[in-house]
Amino acid sequence: MSQIAGAPGDVRVEGAEAVLAQLDDEQRAAARAVSGPVCILAGAGTGKTRTITHRIAYGVHTGAFVPEQVLAVTFTARAAGELRSRLAGLGVGGVQARTFHAAAMRQLRYFAPRVLGGPMPELVENKLRLVAAAASRSRLSTDRTSLRDLASEIEWAKTTLATPDDYPARAQAAGREPPFEPAAVARVYASYESAKQRDGALDFEDLLLVTAFALEEHPDVARQVRGQYRHYVVDEYQDVNPLQQRLLDAWLGGRADVCVVGDPNQTIYSFTGADPDYLLGFADRYPDAEVVKLERDYRSTPQVVALANKLIGQAPPRRGLPGLRLLGQRAEGPAPRFFEHPDEPTEAAAVAQACRALVEAGTPAAEIAVLFRINAQSEVYENALSAAGVPYVLRGGERFFERPEVREAVLLLRGAAAGGTEPGALVPTVRDVLASTGWVEHRPPPGGAARDRWQSLAALVDLAVDLVAEDPTMELAGFVAHLAARADAQHAPTVQGVTLASMHAAKGLEWDAVFVVGLVDGVLPISQSLSRPDAVEEERRLLYVAVTRAREQLTLSWSLARNPGGRRSRPRSRFLDGLVPGSTPTAAPAPRRQKRAKVVLEGEAGERFERLRAWRSETAASASVPAYVVFTDATLQAIAETRPASLRELAALPGIGARKLELYGEDVLATLSA
Ligand code: ATP
Ligand code: MG
Repeated sequence: MSQIAGAPGDVRVEGAEAVLAQLDDEQRAAARAVSGPVCILAGAGTGKTRTITHRIAYGVHTGAFVPEQVLAVTFTARAAGELRSRLAGLGVGGVQARTFHAAAMRQLRYFAPRVLGGPMPELVENKLRLVAAAASRSRLSTDRTSLRDLASEIEWAKTTLATPDDYPARAQAAGREPPFEPAAVARVYASYESAKQRDGALDFEDLLLVTAFALEEHPDVARQVRGQYRHYVVDEYQDVNPLQQRLLDAWLGGRADVCVVGDPNQTIYSFTGADPDYLLGFADRYPDAEVVKLERDYRSTPQVVALANKLIGQAPPRRGLPGLRLLGQRAEGPAPRFFEHPDEPTEAAAVAQACRALVEAGTPAAEIAVLFRINAQSEVYENALSAAGVPYVLRGGERFFERPEVREAVLLLRGAAAGGTEPGALVPTVRDVLASTGWVEHRPPPGGAARDRWQSLAALVDLAVDLVAEDPTMELAGFVAHLAARADAQHAPTVQGVTLASMHAAKGLEWDAVFVVGLVDGVLPISQSLSRPDAVEEERRLLYVAVTRAREQLTLSWSLARNPGGRRSRPRSRFLDGLVPGSTPTAAPAPRRQKRAKVVLEGEAGERFERLRAWRSETAASASVPAYVVFTDATLQAIAETRPASLRELAALPGIGARKLELYGEDVLATLSA
């Protein structure tokens, strides 16, 4: 090839060949298939993203694609940026790489006068205000947290194309756990929609829906868009939801120049409406599709790959899922390491020290990541890394001191400190101040947003406890000053740093060294998922995403108690059974939804069941949550039948995670022995 120089046509061919030379045989087959439907169904690190960028480059270099006619879509702005930079690296300009939202926004802005009869409507950036108004019209009493959960339900309904009328039945079938009765949520949803329409505004889901509608109903718009974009590529297609799929179908308008890539084992957005069946069913939908399977993992060492294979191999088989097993291509590396710690600050300190050692030994900080399940876990790592002098950056979550509930709490604490406080009463004072925001220490609420908020505030109390242990004379003013100093330290700008990210935000990325932390049952799998086997499996996939981010070093850890000196009762994540050397896998529970059928128990078991039910009603009422949030009937039945005599026996029952054990364990045992 080296003798080719001269005519532009020849240079183009050389570029194309050079692009293909960077791929293996299967990847190359996919990259060469520049027309017609293509589906790459492959595991983590096998080069899916690499293949689609090379396929685009190949198509452009050979002249099969006009760059401006290619639309590559993905799910996050960061991933779209990654696509653009990889394409730029391959010398390809002009290709559109966007999120579904950004692509829809651009098109609708252009067509708004034609399809909506005016300029682009105002966008509802945040639903909460409208949802709050709709909830109060429906006479629901809400707080910020239940509003966030209501907004999530409306988003889920819209992304799954469910109308308010559809919502109750669909929500039940999907096992949703809405903050209010489904019928009430449906009323709020309907009222939200009509208020929004009256204001002439669009929310983010409308943006996609209206764009799809414009293409479906306006032949001139369809002609223009379909004339502009001829080739479509979708990365991370396992996480496409029905609304996005509808827009993709509208873009295609029956044509088949679409290349989708994804990994069903990395589906981690089912709870927001994503459906991996679109990926798995692609070849049924397009029988002439070129289907490519990749097995070679170029990202991770064979040690990391073996662990990932084992982890996903323990999941119950899913319909239509090909046996994707990864084959590590890289040189041998260190075995993944597992560490159990007495409490979270100790775990975080150990991770911070390990990060520091890596940096001192030459690993750039930006090539290290600490991944956790929920954003509330980040603070202890922010502190530990600050204390160890290791710079960090936070991805996909607000910094601890920037979260609204933390800012509000800090303001209140500052106000209380200005009023003067009793010496020696720091911890109770902090609790009192937080209680004035509605926070109840011993009662973490159900629901993702509620729980995150509760945990942020709990972290402030924990901090006060720690400081008093170090300095018993500390007062509120000192505490507030300490918070300010910490906030300043955290806000110090960092350029190169260890990435702190939730497992969700880490998708598609890779680092030399990855620490997956906080792996206790009740956090991963998260407690809300424990009553539903399908939700537990989504949690397993989340861990799979996390571990497959590591190129070389992988460290997994957990701690037995949350706080120093606390009861060391938290079981390590069930997903680690069979991975930790010397342990055996736990059988996955049969994937069956719990029945809502009425429970009939005879004799003493029946009496116990009734006592437990009475206790549950009281507990649920005082926490203002539906009874099933405390325990489902099935769990109560299991308790009544097996009559556990200790927390340990109770913990062995299905539906009882670490959090429920901590919250209700003693009460349940007391109710049983009454
Ligand atoms: P994920 O499922 O996590 O998104 P992926 O399948 O998209 O992973 P890529 O990110 O494209 O995988 O590739 C993983 C790593 O392996 C990247 O660093 C990529 O450059 C490298 N890689 C992929 N294919 C090859 C290859 N044929 N030769 C060399 N390196 C490769
Ligand atoms: Mg990828």
